[in-house]
Amino acid sequence: VAESVLIIGGGIIGLSCAWEAVKRGYRVTIVEKEAFGGQASGAAAGMLAPFSENPDGPDPFFQLCLDSHRVYPDWVREVEECSDFSVELCSTGSLNVALHESDLLPIQTRLLWQRKYGAACEWLGAAELRRLEPRLSPQAKGALYSPVEGHVYAPKLVQSLAVACRRAGVKLIPYAGNIERMDIGMASGPSVSMNAIGRITADRIVICTGAWSGMLEEWLPLSIPVHPIRGQICSYAARANDVQHMIFSSQAYWVGKKDGSLVCGASEDVAGFERTVTERGVERLTRWSGRLFPSLQDVRPQRSWAGLRPATRDGWPLIGPVPGSPEIILAAGHYRNGILLSPITATRVGDLLEGRTKLNGTVDLNAFDPGRFTSIAGQLR
Ligand SMILES: Cc1cc2nc3c(=O)[nH]c(=O)nc-3n(C[C@H](O)[C@H](O)[C@H](O)COP(=O)(O)OP(=O)(O)OC[C@H]3O[C@@H](n4cnc5c(N)ncnc54)[C@H](O)[C@@H]3O)c2cc1C
Repeated sequence: VAESVLIIGGGIIGLSCAWEAVKRGYRVTIVEKEAFGGQASGAAAGMLAPFSENPDGPDPFFQLCLDSHRVYPDWVREVEECSDFSVELCSTGSLNVALHESDLLPIQTRLLWQRKYGAACEWLGAAELRRLEPRLSPQAKGALYSPVEGHVYAPKLVQSLAVACRRAGVKLIPYAGNIERMDIGMASGPSVSMNAIGRITADRIVICTGAWSGMLEEWLPLSIPVHPIRGQICSYAARANDVQHMIFSSQAYWVGKKDGSLVCGASEDVAGFERTVTERGVERLTRWSGRLFPSLQDVRPQRSWAGLRPATRDGWPLIGPVPGSPEIILAAGHYRNGILLSPITATRVGDLLEGRTKLNGTVDLNAFDPGRFTSIAGQLR
């Protein structure tokens, strides 16, 4: 009989781990306290941007992003084939636009080191930039062009993964409610009691509860310093999109989606678990949209929304077993890059379920050890 795996949390990370586990022969159940994909994963802009998101240097987090980016096209193809659902992967390339002299130095620094890692990036002067993106402001002095970056439509990726999971035999339980109790270290295996569905026991539990992961400290012998960072984001109507590339400025980003809308994000607010959109937040995005694209001056976005990014104290995710309790695996805290990092996280979790401690590739996995914030006595919080 196959071992059973219970995944807690039905965002992109939980669904990716569920799909990986079922493909490796486990009996998988995934419980979500509300609707699948209803939190950060459904709110994301869907950018797959390992180079633009890591301007400073080739640290382990950059390597993790890069490894995930490399496998993305094949991973997406498999999800699409198993769900009959397009996730709208677009390999548009990105442009990091310099509006001021002060934007140039970070771009030059990136150009120097990222080329060694396959970024194939190049500096484009003002004239060439406007040839590629005629709607950009004439104030743009140039841009760093990264041809290999792209994006997916995140809500469709979540939906597609849910369908692929269901077809592969995963039991999906939405609206399971909150955790009332978790027992680990029991001879009968770990178990979780949730107020809408009762108690579930499994051989292993994978915790993928995004920004809410810190709340599980109550049941686990480790410190989980994950906190929510609200991202407010908006989109302009279909006619807005003749922007071909993903555009980054120092203050915001713009992504043209396949349906023709132009998504602009995102704020980084400390607002607890509050998910409302504020007038001030949208006004800031609207102002920057008008500065980068003069045709958007005085245009109101058609839609705005917000999500809670799961941030950790050091900005890097927690991927690995709970110290002393290898039957409990954490996969949380992906902050700004959970959509990009879902395939590599799922592979890592699949390897851990199979008892493999090393991941093929270049990444130093100690950097993401969930125990790194916990002292031996478990008191360092
Ligand atoms: C505005 C915005 C833009 C973003 N843009 C990008 C982008 O372009 N590219 C990118 O890679 N990333 C992006 N991100 C980040 C990305 O969305 C997150 O890193 C990712 O979605 C995290 O996935 P997750 O599954 O861990 O979290 P979530 O999607 O939040 O899922 C966690 C789930 O766990 C559930 N849950 C919590 N507690 C419990 C419990 N006790 N029991 C059961 N279920 C529980 C929640 O209801 C939730 O559905 C963006 C985020 C935001 C907010």
